Amino acid sequence: MTDHIYAAEHPETTHVRPGGFTLWFTGLSGSGKTTIAHLVGPELDRRGLVVEYLDGDNVRMHLSKGLGFSKEDRDTHIERVGWVASRLTRQGGAVITAAISPYAETRQQARDWVEPVGTFVEVYVKASVDECARRDVKGLYEKAFKGEIKEFTGVSDPYEEPTNPELVVDTEEHSAEECAALVFAKLEELGLVPAEVAA
Ligand code: ADP
Repeated sequence: MTDHIYAAEHPETTHVRPGGFTLWFTGLSGSGKTTIAHLVGPELDRRGLVVEYLDGDNVRMHLSKGLGFSKEDRDTHIERVGWVASRLTRQGGAVITAAISPYAETRQQARDWVEPVGTFVEVYVKASVDECARRDVKGLYEKAFKGEIKEFTGVSDPYEEPTNPELVVDTEEHSAEECAALVFAKLEELGLVPAEVAA
């Protein structure tokens, strides 16, 4: 058991399957992370990659169940997502994460876990608080503005914009399909997508 834990913490001692990457979407609630993730993922799947999604909302129902929205809990949640992403990346997977991940330091931690075993592609899904509130997909902004939800990212809690992401997609400028195409093009540019096999 201890050996297994040791191996997990020391990826250089274990086999790394090539080609793995983590596509890390970050941005405000309602900015479009999940929507874009589920446009990109099926195409990667079609190209033969093993795709796994780690959506923040879903992870909070399982792996991060019971965690709240304090800085400490958010960091723990994102560290869990990052750590699992790195394990799947090590196995050659195409991991797609969609979590707000508001703190730069924790995103860097995820990158530091992934990069020894694969490629980390940080995509800032950009939309203003005003636009996200206008969309208010989950009805959360209205509650946050009324003060019914505390520690709401972009309203009463910080969001640290990425300073050096691999890609920024502005979801106010481009449609979801256009954003997905930009993400896909970036993955191709980085050599992460196998060529289409002729039928
Ligand atoms: P998040 O995962 O970031 O919380 P969601 O993907 O759940 O956000 O919701 C984003 C909402 O914004 C969806 O209702 C989607 O249809 C809408 N939307 C409008 N324009 C875009 C765009 N360019 N990219 C992604 N989503 C968009």
